[in-house]
Amino acid sequence: MERFDLKSATYEELTEYITSLGEKPFRAKQIYEWMHVKHVTSIDEMTNLSKDLRERLKEQCTFTVLKQIDVQISKQDGTRKYLFGLADGNVIESVLMRYKHGNSVCISSQAGCRMGCRFCASTLDGLARNLTPAEMLEQIYRIGCDIGERISNVVVMGSGEPLDNYDNLLVFIQMLTDAHGLNISQRNLTVSTCGLVPRIRELADLKLQITLALSLHASTQEKRRELMPIANKYDLSEVMEACDYYFAQTGRRMTFEYSLVGGVNDTDADAAELCGMLRGKNCHINLIPVNPIKERNYVQSDRSVVEAFKQKLERGGINVTVRREMGRDIDGACGQLRKRHMDLAK
Ligand code: SAH
Repeated sequence: MERFDLKSATYEELTEYITSLGEKPFRAKQIYEWMHVKHVTSIDEMTNLSKDLRERLKEQCTFTVLKQIDVQISKQDGTRKYLFGLADGNVIESVLMRYKHGNSVCISSQAGCRMGCRFCASTLDGLARNLTPAEMLEQIYRIGCDIGERISNVVVMGSGEPLDNYDNLLVFIQMLTDAHGLNISQRNLTVSTCGLVPRIRELADLKLQITLALSLHASTQEKRRELMPIANKYDLSEVMEACDYYFAQTGRRMTFEYSLVGGVNDTDADAAELCGMLRGKNCHINLIPVNPIKERNYVQSDRSVVEAFKQKLERGGINVTVRREMGRDIDGACGQLRKRHMDLAK
């Protein structure tokens, strides 16, 4: 019989499971709290359950706990980059960013990625597998326990394409925002996608209050295709229509991410085109100076070029911020730490 994944079960599913064992529903509430509020690392720590129930759970269930393999702490800004081990030997990475307004955790949604974006380290070795809801939640729980502070914001912007792991992502969102668990507001959650059009539309129809970030990285279909293979599947015009639809359905302002790559997408013409494309939209654009990875020869735009690009967008009436390059001294770019670890193990 397949084991029941205790920590991936929603409150309702857990209640159903526990009552199917002949236990009272309040036991489910206790167990949910041990896992999702107290973040215990073993079933034996659930001391208000009978020994018999604990034994049965241990026999019938998997209980996901991530193992911290490494943590790198930035001397520049206190950013922490974690490397976690999964039960099957895969490794993933997560990042803690400390802001004035609170602690934000950036999680991975897959081990590896199959989207193939040219500048990204996460995709170099392809997709190993999807993460379970428990494995996504655990990244936040372990980091919260490590620093002993509340995590107030979550961004699904680590390795992997969240909309390529859609069903587990939805369960994760439900559990993260459940009042019985961490109870993080949907508004404090951002999901970033390279632009899987049908999934963006499905997500829009759920009318959640999460922020959707679209990885744009180019202002024309041709240029986008050079950087992101997914653009061969979905034309830029379709992607933008899906984003308009997301805003129409949810009322949530879109975020666009634009990684500036020196000499590739950072010219005056690129900025002008981008202005034209985003004019009049209720949106926000994040400029990210590309974090060069050694496997590719992309370089960062000069600071002056970044600043000029930003000003050009501002003059075009677009809300723009240059993302602070947090943790640059600690393999800050997506998938770099994991990649280095895996290469060492080869
Ligand atoms: N699959 C999701 C999440 C990926 S990571 C997505 O595509 O949105 C979050 C952002 O970082 C994406 O916009 C991604 O394109 C960008 N990114 C990845 N590697 C980068 C690098 N080396 N430098 C700058 N941005 C990078």
